[in-house]
Amino acid sequence: MTPRPALRIAVLGGSVAGCAMALAAHRAGASVVVAERSTHRLQERGYGIAMPPTTIGALAESGFLDPAMPNHPVTQRIWIVRNPRSTGAEQVLWHQPSPVALCNWAILWQTLRAAITEVDYRAGTRVTDIETIDDGCAAIVYGNSVTEQFDLVIGADGYRSTVRPAVVPGTAPQPVDYVLWRGTYPESAVPQPVPELENAYVTVVFPHGQAVFYLIPDGRGGRNLNWALYAYPPTPVSAARFEPDGTDPEHTGFVERLAAESLPPRWAELIAATRTVAIHPIFDLTTTQYTRGPFVLAGDAGALARPHTASGAVKALDDARCFQEALGATSSPTAALAFYDRQRCPAGNRLTLLGRRIGRDQIETPPHWSDMNAATMHAFTQHTLDGTTHYLYTDTSVSEV
Ligand SMILES: Cc1cc2nc3c(=O)[nH]c(=O)nc-3n(C[C@H](O)[C@H](O)[C@H](O)COP(=O)(O)OP(=O)(O)OC[C@H]3O[C@@H](n4cnc5c(N)ncnc54)[C@H](O)[C@@H]3O)c2cc1C
Repeated sequence: MTPRPALRIAVLGGSVAGCAMALAAHRAGASVVVAERSTHRLQERGYGIAMPPTTIGALAESGFLDPAMPNHPVTQRIWIVRNPRSTGAEQVLWHQPSPVALCNWAILWQTLRAAITEVDYRAGTRVTDIETIDDGCAAIVYGNSVTEQFDLVIGADGYRSTVRPAVVPGTAPQPVDYVLWRGTYPESAVPQPVPELENAYVTVVFPHGQAVFYLIPDGRGGRNLNWALYAYPPTPVSAARFEPDGTDPEHTGFVERLAAESLPPRWAELIAATRTVAIHPIFDLTTTQYTRGPFVLAGDAGALARPHTASGAVKALDDARCFQEALGATSSPTAALAFYDRQRCPAGNRLTLLGRRIGRDQIETPPHWSDMNAATMHAFTQHTLDGTTHYLYTDTSVSEV
C-alpha cells in the first residue's frame, strides 16, 4: 500500500501560537512552513506573562514547554488602593490566594522556537493574501505574485489576522476604550525594594484603572520588574497609529502623571523609573468558528480576550495541544479540524467573555475601592466569574474557564 503523503501545512505567524502549532503539526507528521514577517523583533518582547503552574506542568509533559523554563512562582495577589485620607498611605484590600507562575514572554517564545528547528521557519516573510484552490487546498501569496500551495493554512497571525476573514467573514476585533501601558526593567534599577513581590503580584486599583506589578526572570539568571497599567487614554488611541508595543512621548508623560495622582507614591515611583513605556491598544473578539475548509485559526487570530485574563499565550499553547491530538486521532484532516473547532472555539469565546466581565467590573464600572475588604472583594470576583473559574481567581467549587 502506498503511504499517504504528508499533509503540507503553512503557518502564518511565527510567534507563540505559530511556533506551537508548527510543533504540533510537525509532530503529527506534516510538512510545515512557517511564514513570519518579522526578522528579529520577537525575542525583544521582554514583557511578563502569567501562567497557571498546573498548565506549565501539563505543557512540559506533552513536550510543548521546557520543564526548566525559568519562572517566578507566587501564591497570592495583593490588592491595594491609595488611602483616600492620606496620599502617602495605602490600604490593603485583599490578600487573594492566586498561585501563578510569572514568566518572560521572550523566554517562552525562544523555548518554542528552539523546539521547531526542523521546521522551515521563514523569518522576514510577509504573507499578503490567501486563496482557496478548487480541490479544497489553499494557497498563500507572498509579495504580489509568488504563490505556494498547501493542504491547510493556519492563521497564527495575531489579532489582525489575514486568515480570520476566510474562516469568519465580516468579523473584526472590537476596540476597547481603555488601553494598557507597560514597562519592564532590571530589578537593579528598582528605586526601593518591594518585598511583597517575592511571593505575590500586586494590583493597585484606582477609579477606572489599575496597575499590576510583578517580577519575572530576565533569562540571564536575574529578574526584571514588570508593570501593566490599564486606564482611559487622554485622547482616543487608534490601532492604526499604535502597533502593539508602540511608544508615544505624549502618552508616556500622561501615564507618569496619572500614576503620580492615582497610586501610592512607592508604586508611582516604579512607573516613573521606566525608560521606555509601551502602549497597547486593547481589542476583543468572539468567533463562531475556528476552521473553515483548509483554513484554521489559532492563538490571538481566533477568539481574542482582553489582557486581564492573562491567558493568550496559554490559550495558544492549548490550541496547539488540541491540534496535535486532533491530527493524531484520525487520518481524516476534515474530521481532525471538526474536532479542533468543537474544542477550541467555545474555550476561546469563554475567555473573551470573562475578559469583558473583568473589564466591566474592574475598569468600566468599578466599585468604590476604598470601601472594599476581603469579604466584599471575594463576593465581587465571584460576581465577575459568573459561575465559571479562572486560574487567577482560584476556586475549586465551580467549573474551569
Ligand atoms: C500586555 C500583554 C500582556 C499579556 N499577558 C499575558 C499573560 O499574562 N498570560 C498569557 O498567557 N498571555 C498574555 N498575553 C497574551 C500573549 O502574549 C499572546 O496572546 C500570545 O503571544 C499569543 O499570541 P499569538 O502568537 O497568537 O499572536 P502574536 O504574538 O500577535 O503573533 C502574531 C505573529 O504573526 C505575524 N504576522 C502577522 N501577520 C503576518 C503576515 N501577514 N505574514 C507573516 N507574519 C505575520 C506577526 O509578526 C507576529 O509575530 C499578553 C499580551 C499582552 C500584549
